[in-house]
Amino acid sequence: MSHRVEVDQQMCEGHGKCQASAPEVFEHRDEDDLSHVILDEVPDTLTAKVDRAIRLCPRQAIRWVS
Ligand code: SF4
Repeated sequence: MSHRVEVDQQMCEGHGKCQASAPEVFEHRDEDDLSHVILDEVPDTLTAKVDRAIRLCPRQAIRWVS
């Protein structure tokens, strides 16, 4: 089973903690200084890393999408 995750671009401050937690899923881009989700579907093997990124995001900008 796969899952989708998104970063609220209005909330993100671009410090990149999410990329540090799950570099397979999140990418900080210099052009807008925000983090972007680079996987359409997050495989089960990466959900724990995404959960960690959600916990560590200082802006609560990351959430699972059903
Ligand atoms: S941890 Fe949160 S605020 Fe920081 S770059 Fe990632 S989504 Fe943005």
